[in-house]
Amino acid sequence: MRLVLLGPPGAGKGTHAQVLSKEFEITHVSTGEMLREALRVSSPLGLEAKQYMDKGELVPDEVVMALVAERLSKPDAAPGFILDGFPRTRRQGEGLDRTLRGLRMPLDLVVYFKTSAEVIVSRLSGRRVCGQCGKNYHVKNFRPKVDGICDVCGRALVQRPDDREETIGHRLEVYEEQTAPLVEYYRKKGLLVEVSGDLDLGPLQAVLAGLFHQKGLLPAKA
Ligand code: AMP
Repeated sequence: MRLVLLGPPGAGKGTHAQVLSKEFEITHVSTGEMLREALRVSSPLGLEAKQYMDKGELVPDEVVMALVAERLSKPDAAPGFILDGFPRTRRQGEGLDRTLRGLRMPLDLVVYFKTSAEVIVSRLSGRRVCGQCGKNYHVKNFRPKVDGICDVCGRALVQRPDDREETIGHRLEVYEEQTAPLVEYYRKKGLLVEVSGDLDLGPLQAVLAGLFHQKGLLPAKA
């Protein structure tokens, strides 16, 4: 199964990608996570990306396109992958088409998480992440067992700099201007399906399972 999850920040793409990747044993490719990891180890790429990320701007196309092309050519992407947070511009979409043509791995489906502004703002402003392992929590909807501490590695939870309320508005503008046009791009290719990103995790997972079944995308064992 080769999927793109498309939608605004806070739509739940990352959470759903994690669940689907575990369930179907396919590689989860999150450009945001790759960039944050580069920053955790203070690589030149991470330090360059930070300037854009903290302001809610997009990292330059060339940088993320090269990262994704390299990641998708690794053997563990061959059985399938879920792209989360990429592509984010039309240019990235065209670059992805070229990469996948070269690898002879065409996309099966692009799932568009259509999400209301209220839900986006509430999810992003309440999100907390582990500074060590990157696991996501929410101050109301998904709390850790001990307040402010990661269940997995015991480190402190923090707010991502780009989840602060003053940055969220700008990220949404960037999404509307640069990423939303990809909805039509993929609709024209006949690859797009729309789901409600406002749904909670369980109900939306059920919708996705039905969709994959209907499209004949479920692996034989599922
Ligand atoms: P995310 O975790 O997907 O919300 O991404 C966090 C930040 O990483 C974004 O606000 C961008 O600054 C950067 N980023 C992630 N993916 C991309 C992409 N495909 N193109 C450009 N910038 C990206």
